[in-house]
Amino acid sequence: MPIYEYACSDCNSKFELLRSFGEADKEAACPQCHNHAERVVSVCASFSKNGSGESVPVAGAGSSCGSCSATSCSTCGL
Ligand SMILES: [Zn+2]
Repeated sequence: MPIYEYACSDCNSKFELLRSFGEADKEAACPQCHNHAERVVSVCASFSKNGSGESVPVAGAGSSCGSCSATSCSTCGL
């Protein structure tokens, strides 16, 4: 079962859960404050910060990862 990372916007804690693929995008309960935490996809999503601090997709970046567009991906191990 894959591990997914979640982040709580209320207490800023991050945690990982083993979930089936079908449950990956479902909300998770924060272990700290039990509020709703959202899945973090930044590890594998090839985003970068632009000048104004927004996250923007990296277009045309060299990709060596088979299952996502990141050049280095801890999720996929490439
Ligand atoms: Zn929390």
